Amino acid sequence: MSGVGSESSKPLSERRASRPIRLGKLAVGGDAPVSVQSMATTDTRDRQATIDQCRMLQAAGCDAVRVAVPDDDAADNLGAIAKAVTIPVIADIHFNYHLALRAIEAGVAGVRVNPGNIGGQKRVREVARAAKERGIPIRIGVNGGSLEKELLERYGYPAPEAMVESAVRHIRMLEDEDFFDIKVSLKASDVPTMVRAYRLAAKTFDYALHLGVTEAGTLLQGSVKSAVGIGMLLAEGIGDTIRVSLTADPVEEVKVGIHLLKSLGLRDGGMTLVSCPTCGRCSVDMITATQRIEKALENVSEEVHVAVMGCEVNGPGEAREADVGIAYGHNNVGLLFKKGKVVRRFAADELEEALVAEVRSIVEERSGKLPIVNQ
Ligand code: SF4
Repeated sequence: MSGVGSESSKPLSERRASRPIRLGKLAVGGDAPVSVQSMATTDTRDRQATIDQCRMLQAAGCDAVRVAVPDDDAADNLGAIAKAVTIPVIADIHFNYHLALRAIEAGVAGVRVNPGNIGGQKRVREVARAAKERGIPIRIGVNGGSLEKELLERYGYPAPEAMVESAVRHIRMLEDEDFFDIKVSLKASDVPTMVRAYRLAAKTFDYALHLGVTEAGTLLQGSVKSAVGIGMLLAEGIGDTIRVSLTADPVEEVKVGIHLLKSLGLRDGGMTLVSCPTCGRCSVDMITATQRIEKALENVSEEVHVAVMGCEVNGPGEAREADVGIAYGHNNVGLLFKKGKVVRRFAADELEEALVAEVRSIVEERSGKLPIVNQ
């Protein structure tokens, strides 16, 4: 039999070539890394609460944050919110071109508004001109649940083709104003519909794509749906920025988004945890121990692979790729290992501490500075 050849060094797919844009300092599209976005859940009229939440999202690793702008009172706060964080702030506007103009004037890094919904080409012209003057991109956000009536009647349901046709209509309105700093999303709550819509869009135009499954649900269901939908597309090379939509604290959206990218090798940094599912060979409460370790190391900034394994027999070997790991054993002892090789034996109740200390020293060595480790 001939050799099987090597697949490991190949990317999963060639990345789709999209037209690059900039959200302030953040590059999106082209060959820029895929970024993670989220949306504040606070009332934007409450300036301090929105600033606080945007800062929490920034600290969690969010690359860009969107805020809802339902009225003038919310628009009044945009300048202060944008100044209070270092990540780009994007104004989310529905139907009201006047609010879009106010947001652009306030200094946001991007606007999400659908040109077909703001009352005619004259208003589109005003918004496009203002955005162009300030170098602000516009995201067209097509949603399967709010398609134009005529498209729904023609296709009979929110078909991927109807979603892409809707996007193209909005795009044309901006292109007619000589505006091309465009990003497009085609979200649906049904994963196959969303995947098909983005695939079709990727073949239809070259604008950057913002991926998401909309109304995906709670932390567990929404994370799974998002990981499947967004993950499939990214694995095919489609997508430039992502948002995991969850009915949960938006910090969770960011964490899930980052893990999603890391699992596809599209983002570096931070701790990657390898932990076994435990089985009858394990003699400690692995689930609680692993949760404690994950919490203790969640803010590590350097790339480090950590393993928590339930037994001495298989643990170190199964976690060969981890930089450092522990394996629990019988008789209240356990092993600390590096790259699958055992370096020391500890009492089981000292293992967690030994692991955290070892990660601390690895991170220190790699970064030349002390890591942040939760107590
Ligand atoms: S590492 Fe040991 S305890 Fe964990 S699943 Fe494998 S055999 Fe079971």
